[in-house]
Amino acid sequence: MKTTDHSAPFASGFRQFALLGLIPLSLALLTPAQAEDAQPPVVDPGQPGGAPSDAIVLFAGKDLSQFRGQNQPEPKWKVENGAVESTPPGGIFSKEEFADCQLHVEWAAPAVPAGEGQGRGNSGVYLMGRYEIQVLDCYNNKTYPNGQCGAFYGHNPPLVNACRKPGEWQVYDIIFHAPKRLADGKVQPGSYTVLHNGVLIQDHIPVGEASTTAAPLSGYAEKGPLYLQDHGNPVCFRNIWIRRLDAAAK
Ligand code: MG
Repeated sequence: MKTTDHSAPFASGFRQFALLGLIPLSLALLTPAQAEDAQPPVVDPGQPGGAPSDAIVLFAGKDLSQFRGQNQPEPKWKVENGAVESTPPGGIFSKEEFADCQLHVEWAAPAVPAGEGQGRGNSGVYLMGRYEIQVLDCYNNKTYPNGQCGAFYGHNPPLVNACRKPGEWQVYDIIFHAPKRLADGKVQPGSYTVLHNGVLIQDHIPVGEASTTAAPLSGYAEKGPLYLQDHGNPVCFRNIWIRRLDAAAK
């Protein structure tokens, strides 16, 4: 039985279309047009635990040249064995100021626990000198939820308690977006996202202009220094690096 090949006219038309060289053009129109020179910048991620090539290294184990003291020009924190130990009186501020950023910091509470609650291995990591991610030895140590280890202090407890034992090195990887003043004068909240030892503990939590609790700096600012707190407990830090995420602040 004779059948009609309905594809024949289409095939013929397709050949003509191809011969005209229109297929590559049509494909180009169907896919997002991106110039090859618009590639993302190349960043060498470095070795595990190391700083990426576009990071600003604030402390690499040798000196505190990137910091100033809270109550004195030169920071008095003790540098020893590749780490720096919080030492009274007062915390330390980075000399450079930051807004939107990615921060990596490693810390260790004293190996021999002393004190209870907020008195055990207390320090803090404050972006812009204002917004504290709590550092606290919460391994078998209870305290109020929004003041425990990894809390956005005074505002939001961590999703989980991912603490290692006292004396062991722990890691915070923090993504911070600063509050921003808009054209109408209102301030758009920023946000905190925090991983503690690789575990998500703060998931895009709002950071308001006034979300400062027991902070050395307050009030609106476009950027500010990183601040590490001295709370009277000898907490150690190492491998501190930061990447700016806001092109305008570079
Ligand atoms: Mg603290």
